[in-house]
Amino acid sequence: MNDPSLMEKIVSLAKRRGFVFPGSEIYGGLAGTYDYGPMGVLLNNNIKNYWWKKFVEERDDVYAVDASILMHPRVWEASGHTNGFSDPLVEDKVTHKRYRADHLLENVGVNVHDLSIADMGGKMHELRLKSPDGNELTEPKVFNLLVEAGIGAVEGQKESVFLRGEITQGVHVNFKNVLDSMHPKLPFGIAQIGKAFRNEIVPGNFLFRVREFEQMELQYYIKPDPTGGKQQYEYWKQFSMDWYKGLGIRPENLRFRQHEEHERAHYAQDAWDIEFNSPMGWKEAWGIHHRGDWDLRRHQEYSGISLQYLDPDTNERFTPSIIETSGGVGRAFLFALLDAYREDSLGGETRVYLALSPKIAPVKAMVSPLLKNKPELVAKAREVRSLLRKVHPTIAWDDNGNIGKRYRRQDEIGTPFCITVDFDTLGEKSGLKDTVTLRQRDTGAQERFTVSEIIERIRLAIQ
Ligand code: ATP
Repeated sequence: MNDPSLMEKIVSLAKRRGFVFPGSEIYGGLAGTYDYGPMGVLLNNNIKNYWWKKFVEERDDVYAVDASILMHPRVWEASGHTNGFSDPLVEDKVTHKRYRADHLLENVGVNVHDLSIADMGGKMHELRLKSPDGNELTEPKVFNLLVEAGIGAVEGQKESVFLRGEITQGVHVNFKNVLDSMHPKLPFGIAQIGKAFRNEIVPGNFLFRVREFEQMELQYYIKPDPTGGKQQYEYWKQFSMDWYKGLGIRPENLRFRQHEEHERAHYAQDAWDIEFNSPMGWKEAWGIHHRGDWDLRRHQEYSGISLQYLDPDTNERFTPSIIETSGGVGRAFLFALLDAYREDSLGGETRVYLALSPKIAPVKAMVSPLLKNKPELVAKAREVRSLLRKVHPTIAWDDNGNIGKRYRRQDEIGTPFCITVDFDTLGEKSGLKDTVTLRQRDTGAQERFTVSEIIERIRLAIQ
């Protein structure tokens, strides 16, 4: 995507049309936070529901959990999130990849022994050190990505806990609970949608990198095999890509990319991203990671509770391996908007529209009477709308301004269909009674159909 102004257009449309507002805006905002408005909530829910349908509801081998955001501090020790506490880290200002400042300096022959963080920063300036990708780096800082909170009512005696930095661990700590309560047989998965928090050093690019975001994840437990679960891994890679394409994003704007060895978390046996062709370049949209038995093994070690699986057929006990498929809701939301943004000229006028898939479009259709001061038209249009609302609740009503303006408003929020009730609907011309005009968003084409034909068309389109 090479329209550099596209992101600005999306940010402005998102605000103007009630999708996304800057967090705490009337107080000047809070960096790295955004609030979803009326249209944004609808789009966000549609994306999550579509994920839930494909990853949970349509499957017999997936269970769902909804774990707490606040977790025991030992969880983050076991997962390795608190270990990096004393590492001096720098971040590539463009790719946002993080590096150990001491490692980068050592690579160019600097003896970092006994260097303070400030000294390391000084050395980096002196040497004009760039990231391995050739970009500017942030100042080295000792920091932890986890956001800290205090719980307990008495000031001074608060217990320090972390808001979860990923939703993954909420699933793994419940592995035994799901096993004991549901008795699933391997392979099976545990799915979750929920918020995660990260102290990103450089939040930015609108919803792409924020400090509070929502994730959709499936942790799929398999029996370790000599191939490293290759078949299952490939299956989930493709399943995730198919899901992303199912959002309506054009296939040419999506691709797979394998992580190189140095990018992978130390426990990951294999890692692939689904990337989206964004105005900032190809960017991670989704991750499919082979986590080996790292999480279960570590939680077993740190909690002292056995997280092994007993194979009922062979009586063998082992720690399952994990394939994770994980993505951000906000990123899917942003990428769907970026991909759907269109400008064209229709009837000699420039217009903006969002070519969103009817499946995720916040409003499925808009119904309006041709004139708002003709009670017969209004009554009939209200009747059509209530019939359509039996198919889907988000059927808008608009009787403001002229019909062209109403269409433009719906185009900008991506409403796939607009239905107009006119005098012909009431039977002014023979043979047209009970027909209405259906206007298609992408082409602007208008055709007459009976109300029941329209109900069926919309029902099929939004599935
Ligand atoms: P990145 O490299 O972009 O920081 P990551 O590799 O740390 O991402 P994971 O920990 O694998 O990301 O998280 C899984 C998914 O969660 C990502 O693919 C992305 O969609 C989403 N995600 C991660 N961090 C953020 C963030 N700060 N803001 C919005 N979404 C995020």
